[in-house]
Amino acid sequence: MKSISLILLAAGDSTRFGLPVKKQWLYQYDKPLWLYVLERLQNSYSFESIVVVANRQEIPLMEQMSGVTFVQGGSTRQESLRNAIQKVESGFVLVNDTARACVPPELIDALIQKAKPSCCVVPALKMSDTCYYDGKPIDREKLLRIQTPQLSCTATLKELLESQDTFTDESSAFFAANKEVLFIEGSSDAQKLTYRDDLKSLPCLQAPINQSRNGFGVDVHSFEEGKDMVLAGVSIESPVGFKAHSDGDVAIHALIDALLGASSLGDIGELFPDNDPAFKDADSKELLRNVVALVQSVGYSIEHCDLTILAEIPKITPYKEQMRKGLAKLLGICSSKVNIKATTAEKMGFIGRKEGVAVYATATLNYYRWDRI
Ligand code: MG
Repeated sequence: MKSISLILLAAGDSTRFGLPVKKQWLYQYDKPLWLYVLERLQNSYSFESIVVVANRQEIPLMEQMSGVTFVQGGSTRQESLRNAIQKVESGFVLVNDTARACVPPELIDALIQKAKPSCCVVPALKMSDTCYYDGKPIDREKLLRIQTPQLSCTATLKELLESQDTFTDESSAFFAANKEVLFIEGSSDAQKLTYRDDLKSLPCLQAPINQSRNGFGVDVHSFEEGKDMVLAGVSIESPVGFKAHSDGDVAIHALIDALLGASSLGDIGELFPDNDPAFKDADSKELLRNVVALVQSVGYSIEHCDLTILAEIPKITPYKEQMRKGLAKLLGICSSKVNIKATTAEKMGFIGRKEGVAVYATATLNYYRWDRI
């Protein structure tokens, strides 16, 4: 058996995809696409080691789901690959893009059979359409469409990746250095997921299951005289505001923690440290917008949120409707999916003494139903 490692590239930003979720986080039944693709590849060969290239912010979440090695992606595919290949010690390395989700096992077998020193083995498809170049028809028999995964000799690829030149894939790096590139017949199943319409044509994709995830968040802030009060995104007439590094919107902070809890993304302090000058007097609405985008990008849709505000002052009732509508807009959901409740502490404790406010929040998320768009 040949000694082969796998590098799976999963650090894309999905800028051409046109959906709030990133491609690598589209749920397939009960797992994100990157993990689904990884397990498909693992089932096709016993790899010596596996490295997944991912976005820095997403690595902690990925590490909860798989024990493989994760490395941070670079600004280009080549830079990402350079970061990953440092971790590879086997004689050969198979590199696949997560967007090539449905690569058939027979294609992996065919690549592995051809592996040899100093060489890159590449799946390629012939063109069936008439092709023009620069306004003139050309001989389509001479054209090849190159796919991934590609299987390379690790030592040669490591050396080639040190080059300052830019390559779109491993085969072009081998070609530029006069190293051997061996073509094998590609597969129409190995097509790439680039645009949302491609979701309809990839043969192995599975719709996500209907499963809700719940998160819970709590926050407490004391009052500070002379500061403007902002609560659940609404400016409130008050002689006191909230003592905080940010604007102190205790309701939005609790809601952010509920969203991060439901998506297993940690907590507000990890994302927006209160000793970071970048968040001094930060507008909590902006922090919530960032968290909503993050939660959506890793495959979730927000279904419902519920907040309970514990306060002796201010009186919440006059502002409840405005809070509900404002939060719904920030969450990108209709206002019937946001609920605001208010209660006092019966004059007990710090809340009863009018020293501050506590807020409890829950959030319900579902896997994003990409199959219903
Ligand atoms: Mg807070």
